[in-house]
Amino acid sequence: MQPADLEQGIIMLRHCKKDIYCAYVPDCCPVCGQSAVASQRLEDAPVRIPSPFLNGHREKFSFLLKPTEGTFLRGYDGMSDLHVGITNSKGIVYNYNEAGVHREEWGWEQCVGVPLLQPDMYGLINQWDKYLEDFSIAETWLPHRYEENQHNCYTYALAFVNCLLAAQGKTQKLSKNEFTEQFVLSRTRRASKYITIYQTILHDNFYIIDTPRAKQFKGYSNATGNLLQ
Ligand SMILES: [Zn+2]
Repeated sequence: MQPADLEQGIIMLRHCKKDIYCAYVPDCCPVCGQSAVASQRLEDAPVRIPSPFLNGHREKFSFLLKPTEGTFLRGYDGMSDLHVGITNSKGIVYNYNEAGVHREEWGWEQCVGVPLLQPDMYGLINQWDKYLEDFSIAETWLPHRYEENQHNCYTYALAFVNCLLAAQGKTQKLSKNEFTEQFVLSRTRRASKYITIYQTILHDNFYIIDTPRAKQFKGYSNATGNLLQ
């Protein structure tokens, strides 16, 4: 299996009281060497763990996060700089850096995404592209105003989020920490686990951990919900 396929999802099966993550279902259990599939109970059958990453250009009205260089699954070491942006109704990603505001149609194919609207917010949906464009041409987002720590891509995206909140009549603004804790952290934690599993499989073919005790008896109740959150 090529890394590109593995980027779409990982297989997980259970044997020898282990959770075994791999790119494809193996003929034999890598722990005991027995035929892995034949001896399995139904609840231990292989499941596919979908990638937590989204193609940002298919996510409307969303906050996106990705490495400034490269992608999460290729080259990201957990410490590299991250870049954020906001999509319009057509998946064009508005983002701010030292060269000003960019409107990008590619380059955000592997992101962590936070949807910013509910599907029934028709008023905002209809106005979104104009709001985002008007917001972006303000003097405050000119290139010379950029400052790496205090006036950066996150400042821009969060200011837009706060404009949305104000447009909905909310007086309270979200700080960067509040927004991160409420909306971003659970997603980046899940992404981080996936990166670890992905990189271990690339290197060793398998990522193996003890099955949590409770799950040894229950099987899967919700494959993705339980495993990578
Ligand atoms: Zn086994």
